[in-house]
Amino acid sequence: MLSGPVLSRTVPSGLAPPAPPQDASDELTRHDALTAHAAETSACTRCRLAQGRTQVVYGVGDPDADLMFVGEAPGFHEDKQGYPFVGQAGKLLDRLLGDIGLSRAQVYIANVVKCRPPGNRDPMPDEIEACESHLFRQIELIEPRVIATLGNFATKLLSGKPNGITRVHGAPQPAVVGGRPVTLYPLYHPAAALYTPAMLKILEEDFARLPQLLGAPVPGPAAVAPLPVQEPLLATASAAPAQEQLGLF
Ligand code: URA
Repeated sequence: MLSGPVLSRTVPSGLAPPAPPQDASDELTRHDALTAHAAETSACTRCRLAQGRTQVVYGVGDPDADLMFVGEAPGFHEDKQGYPFVGQAGKLLDRLLGDIGLSRAQVYIANVVKCRPPGNRDPMPDEIEACESHLFRQIELIEPRVIATLGNFATKLLSGKPNGITRVHGAPQPAVVGGRPVTLYPLYHPAAALYTPAMLKILEEDFARLPQLLGAPVPGPAAVAPLPVQEPLLATASAAPAQEQLGLF
């Protein structure tokens, strides 16, 4: 279900030149299309995850957001409540957003897969492949300028490259996603940072560069987000509790 307030494109004050005037009818059409897409997606049965879910966790936030976050998959709490990042990792994400003067109502948050994998296991390649067009359509309709990819799954899917998050975090990359040029900004996944203080520090430092990135022009098309995912995604994790997702670094 699409939820969250409809706000105008927002970045922290004084950080970016005003956005060019948008055609209001275009905006309304995109909002309607996003609502329709959310409704359509809520009945998705493209992969086995449909069998165990409580509900599809489509996404939440400002449908006109300049900044979009893409995580991995809903966990236990997200599956129950129907919103992404509502557990401990979500609380950390909210805190990090607050540190740069933003709230979750001013960004858009979604995941690579929209249904909870059983036991919070990693999403499988065929599940990602089945779900990815939902995310690409969402991105196409929201038209974010910057997409912060949280962890390995989102980073590899949207960059189309096998490079892991440890290597690429904090380095903006130009890409074309949903037919539009965007800046991808890979970040450590908040769930991983919850248990690793050194990673949390890096995540905080990388996050602090987001306002500057939102104020910067989006580079021209240099890469196209390819389909499908090309290599097995990494699946290593430290001693995170079973309820948290793995494969985040
Ligand atoms: N919650 C989400 O919604 N996504 C994640 O990737 C992790 C926790």
